[in-house]
Amino acid sequence: MSIFTECLFDMFILVRTVILTNVMISDDKGIVRLTLGASNEAETLLIYSPNSTVVCINRHLPSKNGNAMRVKRHMIQLRRWKVFSNHIESVVKIGNQLQEGIDSMLKLHLGNHQFATMNSEYQILQFRDFYRDENGEVRPSLRGIHLTLDELAELHAHLDEFNDKIHGFKDIQLCVNKPDHQPKKCREYNPK
Ligand SMILES: [Zn+2]
Repeated sequence: MSIFTECLFDMFILVRTVILTNVMISDDKGIVRLTLGASNEAETLLIYSPNSTVVCINRHLPSKNGNAMRVKRHMIQLRRWKVFSNHIESVVKIGNQLQEGIDSMLKLHLGNHQFATMNSEYQILQFRDFYRDENGEVRPSLRGIHLTLDELAELHAHLDEFNDKIHGFKDIQLCVNKPDHQPKKCREYNPK
């Protein structure tokens, strides 16, 4: 083996090891990527870019003709991500109940008509935007993304580590926790 091919081989091992062992990577620009799952069907990543006000969930799907990947993307405002993070234990508990075949559901309002939902029909966690229709009923829109329960388990395992990389995340104050909070006037809590 020439030194050149040997080096390539070493690099290959190194890259492979990094990919297989580090589900969370921050690059030199401070962009944090947490891989939640990869299979032939999809690869799901949680992404945070420095100074961004959102967490991005990207789901990479193979295209139908087998060429370029399609990306489905859903963005969640940091304060809503914080609401979700505060409830992660109950979300995981409901996921476990679904896996055991116990009838359960979750409808967690993250803020301004964004919900995290689970039910017995599909074993997934959905992040979805809802809207109020002309009759005043709150209904699910087409904007959303889902995680499998395996991906949720991966998220649960690395959530604190991921959130620690979000600058100022610990200091985000949720409006509902403020003493003078007025739910009826708050668009986040009581959206139109
Ligand atoms: Zn509020």
